[in-house]
Amino acid sequence: MRNLLSIDLEDWFCVSNFDELIPRAAWDACESRVERSTEKLLELFERRGVVATFFVLGWVAERAPDLIRTLANAGHEVACHGYGHNRLGQLDPASFDADLGRALAILRELSPAPVVGYRAPSFSLTRETLWAIPVLRRHQITWDSSIFPFGAHPEYGIADAPVDPFWLDEGLLELPMSVVELGGRRMPCTGGGYFRLYPYALSQALIQRCNAAGRPAIFYAHPWEFDPDQPRMPLPAVKRFRHYNNLGATLERLDRLLGAFEWGPMGAWADSAARQPKTAARPSWAHAG
Ligand SMILES: [Zn+2]
Repeated sequence: MRNLLSIDLEDWFCVSNFDELIPRAAWDACESRVERSTEKLLELFERRGVVATFFVLGWVAERAPDLIRTLANAGHEVACHGYGHNRLGQLDPASFDADLGRALAILRELSPAPVVGYRAPSFSLTRETLWAIPVLRRHQITWDSSIFPFGAHPEYGIADAPVDPFWLDEGLLELPMSVVELGGRRMPCTGGGYFRLYPYALSQALIQRCNAAGRPAIFYAHPWEFDPDQPRMPLPAVKRFRHYNNLGATLERLDRLLGAFEWGPMGAWADSAARQPKTAARPSWAHAG
């Protein structure tokens, strides 16, 4: 089974954890490290012969257009991560429409292939932000990967969302982030801070379980997770641990993971899931959107 490799392409200072520490107006004054960090990933993907999906932040694409051209020319898929990295809960339909439109105008200019996939910053498509669904449709987004079907994270998740692809709306398919059901509980199986926190062997075993349940795992990471030399910000203790834990080991671990499974981009899988008659109907809670 081919698992799905995704990168949320943003600079080290664009993350939601720094919302109160680095205001957006200060981003331009921060040292950009995204090109160096992403190049490490592109080299690794080339060596392993894998193609990934990059959810690109419009703000970054505007400042590093050659990086986006380089990854698209290497065969990777360009998808959208919004423009200014606002969580949906910080926006409303009008400001989200403007943010998404601005990002897509930049990305669609840079990508030779259509940009039709979206991931919300910090998985912020939740029961409270379902108003974003018709906005995504209006911008010709055909698949989304923003819902974490998980209830134990304080800042995101829809605890009872389906774990397999399902329709959010007519023509808009959701590819939920990967969880494994263990003893009646859902456990994330999907990269990011979880991949840095879990022992390597646990990540590998969870992906095997996900595949044994008939589902590809969706792995995600950010370029800054491969940059142990980035500036350190004064985060509260728990966030600090989650944010900076194991940064120096991530590249080698991902190399191992790429060797242990087959990997590919998300759009092709979305297309095949959209054709499957068994793909789940829109859940009743999504009608609120
Ligand atoms: Zn992000």
